[in-house]
Amino acid sequence: MHPIHRAQPIIPHIRESYLDQHFPPAFMQNLPHDKVKVWCCIYCYMQMAQHQMFPPDRVTPRAICKSCWARLTAQVTIKCWVCGSVHDQQMLDYQRQAPQDIHYRIHDGKCMDYFALVSARALGVDTGVCEYPPPGLHPQEIDYKKLLGGVIYREPAQITYEPQETIGDIINMVPRQKVRR
Ligand SMILES: [Zn+2]
Ligand SMILES: [Zn+2]
Repeated sequence: MHPIHRAQPIIPHIRESYLDQHFPPAFMQNLPHDKVKVWCCIYCYMQMAQHQMFPPDRVTPRAICKSCWARLTAQVTIKCWVCGSVHDQQMLDYQRQAPQDIHYRIHDGKCMDYFALVSARALGVDTGVCEYPPPGLHPQEIDYKKLLGGVIYREPAQITYEPQETIGDIINMVPRQKVRR
């Protein structure tokens, strides 16, 4: 799953609105969107290098660092990483067969849409969603320039990733991956 490609058609629909207008509160609790920073792992928030996020030998970028990914996929995860509801038996069987495949960890549909949005933000995409003020701060006291110029947003023009049309060529160049991610 390419999180940026998945997120792109969703962004026009969520831009300049709050995520809790579109997704259930459990999503934000399990995977907080507002804590995610550009170039940081979406789980531990540790900074990642560009070659870790956009590995040259892979078609899909990564928004989860190696150690978090190893921890998250070490065993069967009964609950969806995003909504927290329990997977059916078939999903758990698929996880055992393909532990690295994210499609068996997260429900398709809104759960995967949300995951893609959070990942895209970490990968440098400006999702344009509204942020609530930090707790205890009145909106008048907030330095919006600092917020917007800091870790939260990044110029979309600075994003580099493989355009859709070249992906076929890239797939032909690299050894075929058994697992999707
Ligand atoms: Zn991490
Ligand atoms: Zn789910």
